[in-house]
Order: sequence, then C-alpha cells, then structure tokens
Amino acid sequence: MIKRNIDMKANSSNAKGMNRRNFIASSGGAMLILAAGTSPSILKGAEILTIPSLPYPENALEPIISAKTVSVHYGKHHKGYLDNLNKLISGTEFADMTLELIIQKTSGQTDKAAIFNNAAQTWNHTFYWRSMNPNGGGEPPKSLLEKIESSFGSFDECKKQIVSAATTLFGSGWVWLVVDGKVLKVVKTSNAEVPFVSGMKPLLTMDVWEHAYYLDYQNRRADFIAATLDKLINWNFAVKNFEATM
Ligand code: MN
Repeated sequence: MIKRNIDMKANSSNAKGMNRRNFIASSGGAMLILAAGTSPSILKGAEILTIPSLPYPENALEPIISAKTVSVHYGKHHKGYLDNLNKLISGTEFADMTLELIIQKTSGQTDKAAIFNNAAQTWNHTFYWRSMNPNGGGEPPKSLLEKIESSFGSFDECKKQIVSAATTLFGSGWVWLVVDGKVLKVVKTSNAEVPFVSGMKPLLTMDVWEHAYYLDYQNRRADFIAATLDKLINWNFAVKNFEATM
C-alpha cells in the first residue's frame, strides 16, 4: 500500500504542487509494494492519507504542555481524525485528492460535513504541531516583527489579540495569525474551520479545543495560550509561511 504523505504548507494554493508523482517519489512506495507482496495493479484506489510524525518528542513541550497531553492529542485525536477521514473517503471521488483539495471541495457543504470536519482537523493539527517548538516563544525575527508592528501597532497588541481571540471563542476552535491581503490579522475559527478556504493564509495556529489543554490547565484557557506564546510559539515557522505568501 502506497502512503500519501501530507506536505504541510500554509499556502493552500501549493496543493497543486503535491501531485501523485511527488507522493510516490517521496514515500518509498516501491519498497512498500515489494514488502507487501502485492501487485501494483491492485493498489489503484488503495492509497491512504498519512500524517507526519511529531516534529519533536512527546515530552519536548513540557512544562507548558505535558507529554500526556501531547500523546493523547497526537496519538488519539489527530490520528483519529485521519483514520475517520480515510474511512470516509475510501472508494469516493475524494480518495485520490490531496488533503487541501478535499477541504476546499467539501467546505460549506452540509452533506459533506463529516469529510470536511475530519479533513480540516487532520490539516489543522499537522499545522498546529509545527506552530510550536520546544525553544519557541520570545520575539519573532525582525522581518516578521516589522510586519506585525505595522499591522497591529505593536507586538504586544498582536499577542493581546491572540489571547483575546482564544478566550472569546465560544466552544471549540482555533486561533490563527494569518495574512489577509496585505496585512496580518488574528482570526478565530469554530470547530474544524480553516482560514485558507476564505483566501487567508495561515502563519500560525493555536488549538483551543479543550482536549488541547484540559489535562494541564483545566478551565484556564488564557493561561495555556499565554504560556504557549511565551515559551513555545514557533516564529520561524511563521516566517517561513509568511515568505511563502510573497
Ligand atoms: Mn486538537
């Protein structure tokens, strides 16, 4: 069975670059075929989406986020969305699409809500893990800092808006730093919603579903967000995503 890798790019328009040939070339597909002892002809339509490994060990975000939280969040929630998605798209028109294309095609369609929710949650979490780094936090690199200051007035104001968005989001969802046209903005989305279906380009995200913080912070969502901003947020990832939009 050939596994399709998900190449996380903030800019969803890059999805077109992830064609089937790229997946096969980068996944060691030929070795998998031999190991499984199957004929290539029966592999058609049998490819499944996969998620990348965590970019750090499960305990690397401690003491801000415990290994237990990361283990359950990645191993049960994130993988659960992926497994659901693969089941839902098996044998459908979506089975051969990239993750980004599945999200674009099902967004806003009530009869495709289950596929959209599981696809978007699969994408959001892969983006989320990369939005943090054990040595993160602090100030963004100068190029991004200047853009933040011109968009928000100050870096402190940007952080304030992130915490405010997280605490005012009712229920479950995500807080994002995005590029919207020429400016940076903080936006919040409910449940599985992703900003790129509205044309905004995500630079960073923070998961504010309770499963992201409840074991460590219980109801103190603002503390979780503030600590993540101070110690974990991966500004280098944001810079990379920002540069990709230019
Ligand atoms: Mn989550």
